[in-house]
Amino acid sequence: MLLRSLNIPLNVIRGIGPEMVRILAKPGIRNIAGLLCHYPRDWEDRSVTVPIKDFHKNQVCTEITVVARDWIGYGRMRTLKVYVEDESGRAVLLCFNRPWLEKLLIPGERFRLWGRFYYKYSEIQSSAFEIETIDGTEKSNRVQSGILPGILPVYPLTEGLNQKKIRSFIKRAIDKYAADLENELPENLITRDKLLSKAAAIKAIHFPVSAEELELAKKTLIYEELFYLEVMVGKRAGERIRGIKNEKLEMRNERGAFSPLQERLIERLPFSLTPGQQQAIAEINADMAGGQFSMARLLQGDVGSGKTLVSFLAALKTVDDGGQSALMAPTELLARQHADNAARLLEPLGLRIAFLTGNVKSSGRKDLLNHLAAGEIDLVVGTHALFSKDVNYKNLSLVVVDEQHRFGVTQRSSIMAKGVNAQNSNPHLLMMSATPIPRTLALTVFGDMEVTVIRDMPPGRKPVKTHLAKESGENRVYEFVRGKLEAGSQAYFVYPLIENGDEMNLKDAVSMAQRLAEKVFPRFTVALIHSKLGEDEKRKTMERFRRGEIKVLAATSVVEVGVDVPNANCMVIEHAERFGLSALHQLRGRVGRGLDQAYCFLVYSDELTEDGKARLKVMLESSDGFVIAEEDLKLRGPGQIAGTEQSGYLNLGIANPIRDVEVLAIARDDAFSILENDPGLLLEDHRIIARVLEEAPPFREVVL
Ligand code: ADP
Ligand code: MG
Repeated sequence: MLLRSLNIPLNVIRGIGPEMVRILAKPGIRNIAGLLCHYPRDWEDRSVTVPIKDFHKNQVCTEITVVARDWIGYGRMRTLKVYVEDESGRAVLLCFNRPWLEKLLIPGERFRLWGRFYYKYSEIQSSAFEIETIDGTEKSNRVQSGILPGILPVYPLTEGLNQKKIRSFIKRAIDKYAADLENELPENLITRDKLLSKAAAIKAIHFPVSAEELELAKKTLIYEELFYLEVMVGKRAGERIRGIKNEKLEMRNERGAFSPLQERLIERLPFSLTPGQQQAIAEINADMAGGQFSMARLLQGDVGSGKTLVSFLAALKTVDDGGQSALMAPTELLARQHADNAARLLEPLGLRIAFLTGNVKSSGRKDLLNHLAAGEIDLVVGTHALFSKDVNYKNLSLVVVDEQHRFGVTQRSSIMAKGVNAQNSNPHLLMMSATPIPRTLALTVFGDMEVTVIRDMPPGRKPVKTHLAKESGENRVYEFVRGKLEAGSQAYFVYPLIENGDEMNLKDAVSMAQRLAEKVFPRFTVALIHSKLGEDEKRKTMERFRRGEIKVLAATSVVEVGVDVPNANCMVIEHAERFGLSALHQLRGRVGRGLDQAYCFLVYSDELTEDGKARLKVMLESSDGFVIAEEDLKLRGPGQIAGTEQSGYLNLGIANPIRDVEVLAIARDDAFSILENDPGLLLEDHRIIARVLEEAPPFREVVL
């Protein structure tokens, strides 16, 4: 039996009734397969003693004697407080909702104790502990029983589920079904890497007998998951990649030359291209030089590295080759800025530029669509409206997606469909992103795409000076900004919410715009911008900010992507802990675009935990979007990888492509070489792969 084919209802397990079926469905456990694949998020090694005095290093695991007891609180809140001690020290057990412990925890009695402890009110306390009699027998039927000494799984939980229940369900499922599980990896790979069988790996991932066995189980399941991920990617991408490899070999020699319109723009620029931009254009030109395969390239470059210009140069080559280009941005604000820049830089070269969003009014819209369909527009800039049903292109040859991480990967197919033109080939695709992902991962997520990375910045940029500030110390931040405003700069203030519903103590853009205007900066013009405002109003506000008529912009993260106002060199982000690191990096990238020193203040709640603070400190230590993105991914997990959220694409159970990037590379090589040598998966060793893909595909869909 293949694991994922175990489509057996959960109620065959003793203890799972209709109510529990409903509860288990919340984290997605719908059948026995789901139960067996509900991997622990952690393991506790209860074979090693951790005395009370070491509570800050690890979960305590020790034998204690009950010393004294006390009750705190009144009425329904009345809670038993039990003082216990081992040889190393004393601790307090808070028995919230466990009044029955009163009968058990009698002074003088000894127990085994596990739990996470913390230091509070000068005591070492825990309310999340488990106890057991020393000889393992139950003294009261309410005591946690069945705790095995040794290594115990700790599962992700949901309301209505606790560790004890889920452990027992999974234990029963393993006893009943694990032995019959078939291997899903080719035998030669299992032998080569000395992996466990599938049956042994599933058993050991949940209930390992030793730390070594647990490591082997992890190694086996992580490799298997990544192997199948790459098999799916490889199947879709294989043909294309092989084709490109051959074409590239022939075309490499022609690289380097700019097209005539590109030459003309470059001559007119007041600066020269950075080496990274030059390299990017060389690769794009080679991709677009013809051949059977269209370009599919991901252009990664940190905030401010000058990607927009690269995309304009790509559009110029497209015009030279007789085609149309479309540039899509995630917000109307950014689309408009691109359109303005395109008009400024490209219209003097004779390009016909248009701007199209969902808000372009009907009469003008009709004309515009006619011009597009007639091929009378060379470059159209807009939002996703560029690809709505009624928009037709005469000869769409290049699609640029800016800030691609803001769009779902799934959107790619609807875009590409627009470009099926006279030659019946896909348009060239250039995706741009400042939220970088490691190269191997990029190749996996974007399967058949090639990746260009701009690693350098235009010269003369000074790194933004970043400071952390407690909310209670925000007045000093305001004062500092006031000084800068007096010296002629402009500032952004960013808030996590537009308007604060019921959350107390949370600043929002609307009320803070008012407070900044009336109380904090009464001598300066303050304006408000957020996504709910009308497009006209947003545009006017941005124009006035750009012209310097507005000095302070109170905003939400609408200003996160792309906005480019060089004179604004202060950025204050309030409730910074509520933003992802990559979002903070993007926001910070809005300043430091001019020649003056720029500043960014991350204002955080006074109650922020040490972990939360450590996370924000990454922003002080690094101005490198790659480092920050990797930290962000480590902290948030791969489910959040840019652009993959909607697709269910990286539906991984145990592997983490960031942490396991080396295994990913090996799995990719293995999968691709199998597909290359045996595309039909006909060899004896490879049949299992075909069967898994057919019977129990580990991933719902691979969108490329
Ligand atoms: P991003 O890569 O974040 O999209 P932009 O394209 O918005 O960056 O570029 C940021 C700024 O840098 C723009 O004002 C742009 O005009 C400027 N710029 C782009 N390339 C260069 C260059 N080679 N030298 C100097 N400034 C440049
Ligand atoms: Mg940009």
